[in-house]
Amino acid sequence: MNENFNTFELLVLSGKGGTGKTSITASLATLAKDAVLVDCDVDASNLELLLSPSLRKKEPYLGSMQARVNADLCDNCGMCMELCRFGAILSDGPANAKVEHTHRVSPTSCEGCAVCAQFCPHSAIDMVPVVGGEWYVSDTMQGPLVHARLQPGLGNSGKLTTLIRDKARMLARECGRTFMLLDGPPGIGCPVIASLTGTKQILVVTEPTPSGAHDLERVLELAKHFKIPTWVCVNKFDLNMDATASIEARATELGATIVGRIPYDNSVTEAQKQGLPVISMRASPAARAIQELWSKISPFLPEQSN
Ligand code: SF4
Ligand code: SF4
Repeated sequence: MNENFNTFELLVLSGKGGTGKTSITASLATLAKDAVLVDCDVDASNLELLLSPSLRKKEPYLGSMQARVNADLCDNCGMCMELCRFGAILSDGPANAKVEHTHRVSPTSCEGCAVCAQFCPHSAIDMVPVVGGEWYVSDTMQGPLVHARLQPGLGNSGKLTTLIRDKARMLARECGRTFMLLDGPPGIGCPVIASLTGTKQILVVTEPTPSGAHDLERVLELAKHFKIPTWVCVNKFDLNMDATASIEARATELGATIVGRIPYDNSVTEAQKQGLPVISMRASPAARAIQELWSKISPFLPEQSN
């Protein structure tokens, strides 16, 4: 494997859901033809809904550690229960040769801090990895897609996001693809920060609403903090021309480059219903605007993706 192999990673963000980010990402994937695709939203992955993936590989995600009591070794002293700050130890474990009840761990409450394992006088507690979700590699017409699903209720989505982008980089090396297109998670929290690591360029998809403007500002501040150049595209721009102009002015002031405006278009919903990226409806206004957006940004991307 070539250690000097570098990928150009374009991350598409929106700050909030519902701006049309995934539809635009799927369309850019179609235009790029040979990117490695990553859906970084491990809590609600939906890029796959527009790319008709065929599953190539499925792996468990060992997300965290949890305590397990070995009932044969436990003498029911209760020390672990006293020490656990999360109330995750219960005293109704199975009997063994010495005691009628042992202690056991509630898997839904254990936070994996390992304090109980460290202090158990009989070394009856082990820390074991637990499956926190799955990650996948799928084949699509647009290129290989790396995606994942975190088990509901688990809070470490940033870690799984980091894992799938690392897997995507390895895949890019293996298949010699230098362009990675990442559909980012919503918000500006831990999963977004995990997605930003190593990103060369951000594309923010926003919309002309007060919440769109607010979230755009937060994403641009984050991008500035990490010194990542940022493009901005206003989706459904014609719903409020004044708001679009003001969003574009503010984005420019914050150092971003405006690369496109996409009109409101019912074809987007129609394409979604059919499980297709809107770019496949070639004559539609949204598809034409995305094509223009692609013409602007593709000269800055690796040559093979043009
Ligand atoms: S500290 Fe160890 S021996 Fe004591 S109750 Fe807990 S598991 Fe059992
Ligand atoms: S690992 Fe921590 S949270 Fe889990 S049972 Fe032990 S003390 Fe409680």
